[in-house]
Amino acid sequence: MKNYNIAIDGPAGAGKSTIAKIVAKKLEYIYVDTGAMYRAMGIYMLNNGISVEDEESVSKACKDVKITIEYIKGEQQVILNGDNVTGTIRTEEAGKLASAVAKYKAVRAKMVELQKSLAASSNVIMDGRDIGSVVLPNADLKIYLTASSGERALRRWKELEEKGIPSDLNEIETDIIKRDQQDMNRKISPLCQAEDAVLLDTSDLTIDEVIDTIISLFQEKCSEDLV
Ligand code: C5P
Repeated sequence: MKNYNIAIDGPAGAGKSTIAKIVAKKLEYIYVDTGAMYRAMGIYMLNNGISVEDEESVSKACKDVKITIEYIKGEQQVILNGDNVTGTIRTEEAGKLASAVAKYKAVRAKMVELQKSLAASSNVIMDGRDIGSVVLPNADLKIYLTASSGERALRRWKELEEKGIPSDLNEIETDIIKRDQQDMNRKISPLCQAEDAVLLDTSDLTIDEVIDTIISLFQEKCSEDLV
C-alpha cells in the first residue's frame, strides 16, 4: 500500500513543529521532527569537545554518532548513542549548534538516510529545511511555512515567557535572522521553497487556520490520486 508523505519546510520559529504535530494527530500519521536530529548531532559535538566549526573533525566523529528515533505515546524521542536527549535539545544553543553542523556533507548524508528510511515505512509528516527539496522530493504535499522575523521572534519570546524563562525579544530576532541566513546560504541543501511547494505565510493566521488549510490542501491532493 502507498505511504503518504507531507513535507513542511521553512525558517526557524515559523511554527512548523506545532502545526505538523497537530496535523499528524488528525491524520493519524507519524510526525518526524528532523531538526531534532541535527540538534542531537550538535549536542554530541559539544559534549565531546569537538568544535562545530571544524568540518574535518565533525565529519570524522559522525561515524561514532548513532541517532535513532522512537515514539512514546505518539511523541518523537531522539536517542543519541543510547541516551534519550529529547528534553535537552530544545534550547537556542542547541539550535545554533545544529545549524553549524548542518552545513556539512557528512552530517547531512547521515541524517537524510535516516529520514528517508522513516518515510519509506509509514505515512509521515516531516518538517525541516530540505524535506521538499531533498529528503522527500516526491512528497504528496509540500508546504513552505513562513512568517515575518518579528512575528516569529515574538512567538518564541512568548513561548519562553510561558515557561518562566526570561529573554530579550531583540536578541531572539537577531538570532533567528542569523540562523536563517546560515541555513539559506549554505552550499549543501540550503533552506529553500521547493518549486512545487505551497507557500503559507502564517503572520496573520491562527494555528487552526493554518491546520485547516494544510488538511484541505492534502485532501484535494489525495482526491486527485483516487481519480
Ligand atoms: O527546526 P530546528 O530549529 O529544530 O532545526 C535546527 C537546525 O537544524 C536548523 O537551523 C537547520 O540548520 C538544521 N536543519 C537542517 N535540515 C533539516 C532540519 C534542520 O539543516 N531538515
